[in-house]
Amino acid sequence: MVYFWFRRDLRLEDNLGLWQALSESDSVQCLFIFDKNILEKLEDRDDRRLSFIHAQIRRLKEELQKLGSDLRVEFGRPVEVWENIIHEGNTQGVYANRDYEPYALNRDEKIKSLLRKHKLDFKQFKDHVIFEGDEVLKDDGTPYTVFTPYMNKWKKAFESSMLEGHTLDDELKKNFISSPELSLPSHEDLGFVKNESYFPKSSVSNEILKSYHETRDIPSVAGTSRLSVHLRFGTISTRALLKKAIASNEKYWNELIWREFYQMILTNFPHVIGGSFRPQYDRLEWLNNMEHFEAWCVGKTGFPIVDAGMRELNETGFMHNRVRMITASFLVKDLLVDWRLGEAYFARKLIDFELASNNGGWQWAAGCGCDAAPYFRVFNPDSQAKKFDPECKYIRKWIPEFDSFDYPKPIVDHKQARLRALDFYKKELKSE
Ligand code: FAD
Repeated sequence: MVYFWFRRDLRLEDNLGLWQALSESDSVQCLFIFDKNILEKLEDRDDRRLSFIHAQIRRLKEELQKLGSDLRVEFGRPVEVWENIIHEGNTQGVYANRDYEPYALNRDEKIKSLLRKHKLDFKQFKDHVIFEGDEVLKDDGTPYTVFTPYMNKWKKAFESSMLEGHTLDDELKKNFISSPELSLPSHEDLGFVKNESYFPKSSVSNEILKSYHETRDIPSVAGTSRLSVHLRFGTISTRALLKKAIASNEKYWNELIWREFYQMILTNFPHVIGGSFRPQYDRLEWLNNMEHFEAWCVGKTGFPIVDAGMRELNETGFMHNRVRMITASFLVKDLLVDWRLGEAYFARKLIDFELASNNGGWQWAAGCGCDAAPYFRVFNPDSQAKKFDPECKYIRKWIPEFDSFDYPKPIVDHKQARLRALDFYKKELKSE
């Protein structure tokens, strides 16, 4: 028997690693591990991501049960879980798709050497992305640090055959191991409470994709795909989505390449975790006024577009991309709060939290990232609101007291804050 280990690829269809396992073995047991190392770090007992994963695991179990098999679900530390499974004595090998975050790379190295000790293979496949971090490089073999040339090279290297699906036909489906019904730990067993509100759908209409380039910046309309959480957990196939994107809207296609760009940056420049891509920005001595930070977190800065965004995030676990840019810029440039505090708050709240994209987005806003907004470009939150939410539809949706005296006064004067930011960056970076 071989195992297929689900991680950030929670689907049966067009799942390369699973397809390989079923092609090479006639008895495949599927496994998922609720990882204690990760769950222990989550601050909120009603963390929406835990519930999202739990719902996907339930769905996968039902799909496998219909095929006469089941998903084995464990709760523990991966190394210990695998030690126990190996000890059971009937494992011939393990299949999985590659996961590129530092924790995952480290975990997989440990599992690999554990399996090797027992003369078992750990076969891993590329499924989460079209190109991995070392596959689209400059002609001289070094990584890109600017998006547009990366995108051009990405498109040049791309071939439509890369999008071929991996369908599970009836013959392959026979290779799932027959199994009685297996148990599933409840939210409470895992130490959490259920929070299944605001889960985005796992598909996007052709209409949204067709008009994406016109609607993507308007937070009050459903003008983006809302598929980020599904890309994050692999509940949809990147290949299948890209196929749709190529057929319908180049702008949308380009956004999917932004996702790979930031993954490529994380792979090649791991110092971006906790540090600026441009190290000289680590000299900045942020003001870190905690009252200001708290007002930003709860959406009470007195800047309506910023507050609406933060309240959307707190309420739903999602925030529109344009508003992510505005809220991030406001925290860093108007309040001079360290971008890493904002990054951590988003990481805690976003259902689609992805280390590479979140870090890239924050470093972009702070001006310290690759291909970032220059430090002297400071978003004016009111002009941004006028441009992208002219009738205050988005603002009123998230700030019910917007038109009343209960709505707070601005915590800073934007004009002064802008000058202060320019001065701050200039002084600290003067030796650049
Ligand atoms: P769409 O506009 O429909 O885009 C389609 C897909 O393209 C997205 O689902 C996403 O996978 C990808 N994409 C789009 N824009 C970007 C981008 N700028 N960078 C990387 N990928 C992109 N995205 C995350 O998936 N996880 C994060 O943790 C995250 N944190 C962010 C933090 C900040 C400060 C900023 C400015 C952006 C962040 N983004 C993050 C990128 C972007 O905001 C979201 O991907 C997008 O809002 C998700 O909504 P959507 O699926 O409707 O996007």
